[in-house]
Amino acid sequence: MLGNEAIARGAYEGGVQVGSGYPGTPSSEILEYLSQYKEVHSRWCPNEKVALEVAAGVAIAGGRVLVTMKHVGLNVAADPLMTISYTGVRGGLVIVVADDPGMHSSQNEQDSRNYAKFAKIPFLEPADSEEARIFTKEGFIISEKFDTPIMIRSTTRVSHSRSVVFPQERIHFTPFPYQKDAEKYVMIPAFARKRRVALEKRLEVLRGWVEESDLNRIEMRDPQFGIITGGVLYNHVREVFPQASILKIGIGYPLPYQTISDFVRKVKNVVVVEELDPFWETEIKAAGIPVEGRNRIPGIGEITPDVLKVAFGVPQPVPSIDDLNQYIFPRPPVLCAGCPHRGVFRILSELKITVTGDIGCYTLGVMPPISSIDSCICMGASISNAEGFKLTHPELTVGAVIGDSTFIHSGIGPLLDAVYNQTNIIVFILDNRITAMTGGQNHPGTGITLMGEKTSALDIEELVKALGVKEVHHFSSFDILHFRSLLKEVIKKNSGPTVFILSEPCQLIRKKGNKNFYQVDPNLCRLCKKCLQLGCPAIRLDGERVQIIAEYCRACGVCSQICQFNAIKEEYQS
Ligand code: SF4
Ligand code: SF4
Repeated sequence: MLGNEAIARGAYEGGVQVGSGYPGTPSSEILEYLSQYKEVHSRWCPNEKVALEVAAGVAIAGGRVLVTMKHVGLNVAADPLMTISYTGVRGGLVIVVADDPGMHSSQNEQDSRNYAKFAKIPFLEPADSEEARIFTKEGFIISEKFDTPIMIRSTTRVSHSRSVVFPQERIHFTPFPYQKDAEKYVMIPAFARKRRVALEKRLEVLRGWVEESDLNRIEMRDPQFGIITGGVLYNHVREVFPQASILKIGIGYPLPYQTISDFVRKVKNVVVVEELDPFWETEIKAAGIPVEGRNRIPGIGEITPDVLKVAFGVPQPVPSIDDLNQYIFPRPPVLCAGCPHRGVFRILSELKITVTGDIGCYTLGVMPPISSIDSCICMGASISNAEGFKLTHPELTVGAVIGDSTFIHSGIGPLLDAVYNQTNIIVFILDNRITAMTGGQNHPGTGITLMGEKTSALDIEELVKALGVKEVHHFSSFDILHFRSLLKEVIKKNSGPTVFILSEPCQLIRKKGNKNFYQVDPNLCRLCKKCLQLGCPAIRLDGERVQIIAEYCRACGVCSQICQFNAIKEEYQS
């Protein structure tokens, strides 16, 4: 099973009633797999904060619940996390957070283990799919036993690798009867102060328990060389150093100091091998236990077996970030052929608009030849960034580009701010009717739930108007000539926030219909190369001839609108 599939299986076997989350690579598949178990109610939420709050409600009411997100999503959910740690739970609450060392599909590297310590909750770190299944299932029991939310920390290599799994039957779990307990679950200051003390007592109990748990284990081999590690790195260490003694950490916080101390006494040279932050190394050294770690292991990027070999080999420099890049298969990111928003980006570039971007496919608008994105920080930040740009440089025409799912996730508040403060920006909601970048998940705007049921679909245009935007234009993103002329007028008017909603389904969900492909008529083509500036993977310059590769063309028609010489024509299948 895929690691994410195994997490879903573990939750199912653990008797979970509800799964909630927001898609984000590398965590997205967990809920998709969980939704296939019809005994479990699974749902996408508008963002991770909402997902965790729903989960907290389930757990407080006595049910078992799984909530999933990627590392940056935990930033969004951090607010409820810090307080749910105080209240504790009745039913098991397992929070799966998938980190992305090496930033395969993320805007930053974060080590979510810090959040577990910050929130004072335990976390488990599986090394493969079978452990992902077992740890997730075990998570509900630990959560209930110690009255705490518990985190499962995965990484891309665990989430997206396959290994052998031994599935078991689903256990029958009946939710605990609901019991009102305001002192435990209503965090007014007087009650929260008492829970703060309870939280420290819980940590003490957990510290004792981790020494006994078999989720941490010592594998004694060579007494001269030992490694403390966990997660996927356990497999890499076994591969590179089959003779090394290993303390495999399964429960990453709180740490089993007694077990670690015993291990370090038995083995001469002990190195902590961990990705990203020296989280365990710092904790272990703070406990007065001598180990090595960051002096040998890089703190940037993914630790592969090759990186380990370099780190432990004959003396040579620790690889730089450039060296690490050689381990990543080159796959230049590009907007898909026929992406409904390619033409929009082209017009934004042409009209020299300063564009603040957002998370999702649209970030790819930064790539040449489109090159139209000036900034991209985090989910929903495009609109607020645009406000900041405009405040600093009122002379600029500033536009914020945001996708439909991202707008719903966290763009609504910033747009309200732009309306409230009457910041003169133009917002482009590129509505492709899906959460595209993470694989095409539904969201409140699509009218379909994760369980495949029809539901009421959010009307983005009505919502934007309700926020107080006076000028809203909503039309097809393929109609780029209309878009260009309207946008020119808006720029000239230069008044208040304006919103363009440009809608067309993502090519991954769009039906091609009877349109076949577009072709360049060599007799009409003047080789101006304007169509090449679109960056469509279907358009190529072959010597001195512009060609459209029919197999790649998705017949969106944007290039034919860009060509001023009518050289690009639609062809139909005969
Ligand atoms: S070649 Fe033209 S019509 Fe075909 S997908 Fe690219 S932009 Fe669209
Ligand atoms: S835009 Fe039209 S004329 Fe210019 S190179 Fe492309 S097909 Fe030829």
